Amino acid sequence: MTVLLESLKSIVGDRGWTTDAADLEPHVTERRGRLRGKTSIMVSPSTTTQVADVVRACASEGVSVVPQGGNTGLCGGAIPDASGEQVVLSLSRMNRIRRIDKEDSSILVEAGCILADVQAAAADSGHFFPLSLSAEGSCQIGGNLSTNAGGINELRYGTARQQVLGLEVVLADGTVWDGLRTLRKDTAGFDLKQLFIGSEGTLGIITAAALKLWPHPGNTTTVLAALNAPGKAVELLARLRDEMGGDIQAFELMSDRCMRFVSRHIPDVRRPFADDHPWFVLSEVDAGGDSEALENSLMRIFDEGLVEDVVIAKNQAESDELWRLRHSISEAQKPEGANLKHDISVPTGRIADFLAEGDSLVQNMMPTARLVAFGHVGDGNLHYNVAQPVGADGEAFLDEGLALTEAIYDLVASMKGSFSAEHGVGLFKKSCLERYRGGTEISLMRTIKGALDPENTLNPGKVI
Ligand SMILES: Cc1cc2nc3c(=O)[nH]c(=O)nc-3n(C[C@H](O)[C@H](O)[C@H](O)COP(=O)(O)OP(=O)(O)OC[C@H]3O[C@@H](n4cnc5c(N)ncnc54)[C@H](O)[C@@H]3O)c2cc1C
Repeated sequence: MTVLLESLKSIVGDRGWTTDAADLEPHVTERRGRLRGKTSIMVSPSTTTQVADVVRACASEGVSVVPQGGNTGLCGGAIPDASGEQVVLSLSRMNRIRRIDKEDSSILVEAGCILADVQAAAADSGHFFPLSLSAEGSCQIGGNLSTNAGGINELRYGTARQQVLGLEVVLADGTVWDGLRTLRKDTAGFDLKQLFIGSEGTLGIITAAALKLWPHPGNTTTVLAALNAPGKAVELLARLRDEMGGDIQAFELMSDRCMRFVSRHIPDVRRPFADDHPWFVLSEVDAGGDSEALENSLMRIFDEGLVEDVVIAKNQAESDELWRLRHSISEAQKPEGANLKHDISVPTGRIADFLAEGDSLVQNMMPTARLVAFGHVGDGNLHYNVAQPVGADGEAFLDEGLALTEAIYDLVASMKGSFSAEHGVGLFKKSCLERYRGGTEISLMRTIKGALDPENTLNPGKVI
């Protein structure tokens, strides 16, 4: 190992490595503190050639490499194991915007670019990059692609996968695959870039990406609707799509408990409706500049009884205030104690069934626990969280909750949903992948992993 360490230091230069325990600490610790690994070195290459040289040097010694972006992933995928034998490879110094091509409407970025910086560069060039999530100030585009991140604009623009035109990837033996094309149409053989997107660093290290840029969406209108049942959210989405020509950018469901937690724990937020309602939907609607048409549609929908009440933001400040409610939910859950978190998806048409059957499971198995459900209706993606009973012991609650989690994932599977609609598999959800995607699907994944990384040196132990 000593010889390898010296060789790695010389590849990345003085500014490209650390062995200092305090510097390493945030890079070996999982964000929620659920996992702590160990490493003797973290390297931060600044070029693709350096990444390739690091991977090649490690491969020749049989040492494995754990790629790391912003370390905001919530599945333990970016953390080395406890052996101290794995090298952490941070992409943070590979943070250049290589090119913006207005004619192609594309942007070529290095993997370590912070997502918010990609959005800003797109905006500076008069375009829009739609990937947007609460961690955007610290997560990196390479991490976003490796986890196929979603976010609030997914309904209209799709996940990270849908934003990619081409990739540059360092393979397990140090070979660089230059797939940085900006083609919109390409039917030449397998679409290899899709293999690496969502593979969480187990098949290759993404060093750069060519991404689609979009026209700026223009002025959208923020609407908060109060509903008496979650199934109404799916109906409302269909109605708004019919009425507004399909241009709904975001459509977020939140239960009343989410609102209560937010108003209890987040300073300066106010509940938007005077009356209590069990469910809410926050949406961003592109009315094509015709706010009167939107208001008329909402009036008709209200008169028909589909919604209980509606607030339309009159300006950016009011819009920000409404979005603050949604963005603060995760933060507001923390002071309420431990949470069982399930970032699942079901077919959109089964959302109401899932919520009804899931609620019965919780009632039967942990009747004093508190459901905190919210999510992206258009994608069937729900954050189906269960908060500990008031005053309970958090650790004991999490241990007892394992059976409930399994029952919830079984319910999801019975509806042909996914136990992981966000954040990937990493380490924490490996057993779920075995349980719910067994047989042919797992065997195909193993074949691909074996073909691309026969010595199992790229992020071993993660995903499969
Ligand atoms: C407050 C908060 C809100 C969030 N909201 C969302 C959300 O709305 N939607 C969503 O999908 N996720 C969300 N996440 C999860 C997380 O932000 C995403 O998974 C994000 O894409 C991870 O990016 P990262 O750069 O932090 O990656 P990391 O956490 O560093 O890494 C994640 C995985 O990708 C691998 N990896 C990282 N970079 C590379 C690379 N260049 N090449 C190959 N492999 C690599 C790592 O080894 C690891 O397996 C949220 C997280 C937080 C903390």
